[in-house]
Amino acid sequence: MDYDVIIVGASIAGCTAATAYGRAGLRVALVERQRSPGAHKTLCGHFVLGGAHDVLCRMGFWEPMRAHGAAVTTGLGVWTRAGWVEPRPDGGVPPAISLRRRTLDPLLREIAGATAGVDLLPGHRVVGLVEDSAGAVTGVVTSAGRAERTVLRARLVVGADGHHSTVARLAGVPEDRAPNHRFLFWTYYEGAAMNGPGDAQVWPLDPDVAVCIPVDGGLTQVGVFPAKDRLPEFTADRAAAFDRFVRRLPDGPTLTGARQVSHLIGTTDYPCVRRPPTPRPGLALVGDAATASDPVPAVGCGWAFRSAVWLADATAGTLADGGDPRHALRAYRRAHRFIDGYDDLGRREALAGPPTALQRAVRAAAVTDPDLARRMALFAMRAADPSVLINPGVAVRALIGARMRRHTRPSGTGAAGRAA
Ligand SMILES: Cc1cc2nc3c(=O)[nH]c(=O)nc-3n(C[C@H](O)[C@H](O)[C@H](O)COP(=O)(O)OP(=O)(O)OC[C@H]3O[C@@H](n4cnc5c(N)ncnc54)[C@H](O)[C@@H]3O)c2cc1C
Repeated sequence: MDYDVIIVGASIAGCTAATAYGRAGLRVALVERQRSPGAHKTLCGHFVLGGAHDVLCRMGFWEPMRAHGAAVTTGLGVWTRAGWVEPRPDGGVPPAISLRRRTLDPLLREIAGATAGVDLLPGHRVVGLVEDSAGAVTGVVTSAGRAERTVLRARLVVGADGHHSTVARLAGVPEDRAPNHRFLFWTYYEGAAMNGPGDAQVWPLDPDVAVCIPVDGGLTQVGVFPAKDRLPEFTADRAAAFDRFVRRLPDGPTLTGARQVSHLIGTTDYPCVRRPPTPRPGLALVGDAATASDPVPAVGCGWAFRSAVWLADATAGTLADGGDPRHALRAYRRAHRFIDGYDDLGRREALAGPPTALQRAVRAAAVTDPDLARRMALFAMRAADPSVLINPGVAVRALIGARMRRHTRPSGTGAAGRAA
């Protein structure tokens, strides 16, 4: 074998996996189709949820990200029709971090490429897989342009090649697609002032969503995720529709005097895609190649960091000992269920349907109930199992709270219409 592990894709998931395997003493090929050291993903809101904080610290990524200017969010305010759910400083909710991909991707590639045992191969596009007679994946064929082809072999091939994973397609991995009934656009401002609580805010406006987030460079990212029935409005005049949406946000950011420093970035269709993370012997998928979720809850980067580390944790020891990674991959499959659980919920949310009575009750109760607010934050940051929020105890407390509010609410304080 040429290598212990071949990783296809040197972005978040691939660089994380390569760094972890290299540090475990393995020989790693990190194959990336892009040639430029500055290559980066452009269609990404780069808000990395607090659930990834542990992994970022453990991998030694957190401090370099901070040193490159990343903005940290320690408290996310959530707007509800009953008032703001304010972040609690003592809630044990790990911080989120945001560093634009133009800086993050090269930084991760630099760390991975400098790790002993990792051969970073930029400008190599994977165009084929090598398989043994039993159907196990044992390597890849890369193209570095023109007719040049290279065959690399390893005991484990990792597809970290994103949403449209070539590796998955070449391996005939089935794809489970689900619709997304929202679209999204965002931009960055210099000199914007936030008016909601916490250092970032989210507006679940049912069915639309909006966010306001601090990012590197002292900039403020403002993003809107309208339901698709508003597409004609955005198609007619995207900039005007965006401005109108943001201006009508309750306690939205003050943009008077702020300078918009980028064009609107986004997409009008982004279906959810899921593939089995251990689809074939000798093959594992990480990051978007396994689960490309709805961008609204901003989970994808966190899943990419975390799934890569889970895979390395599950398999590095076996690979280092010269063992068969097949059994070790089962541990990765099990760890990945955490993502699958949240993705099931995310797919339901991506349909942009009306919130259930229980969802409304939980949000409203969290305005005055600090423990519910903490649970909501842990859920939003993907920092605990979904059962932290979705459990009978929370449901009972929220519904009792809703009943009490109905009895004490002065007349005339009903729900507002579509807020934007
Ligand atoms: C509009 C939008 C907004 C988003 N906002 C957020 C957000 O705010 N927060 C968040 O956490 N997530 C967000 N995401 C999701 C996030 O961008 C992805 O989950 C994340 O980039 C996945 O990382 P990855 O490493 O798995 O894949 P990618 O970042 O897509 O990287 C794949 C890599 O593989 C390489 N590659 C592909 N094919 C080949 C090949 N054949 N050979 C060699 N190399 C190849 C590519 O060049 C690339 O470097 C958003 C996504 C979208 C679409």
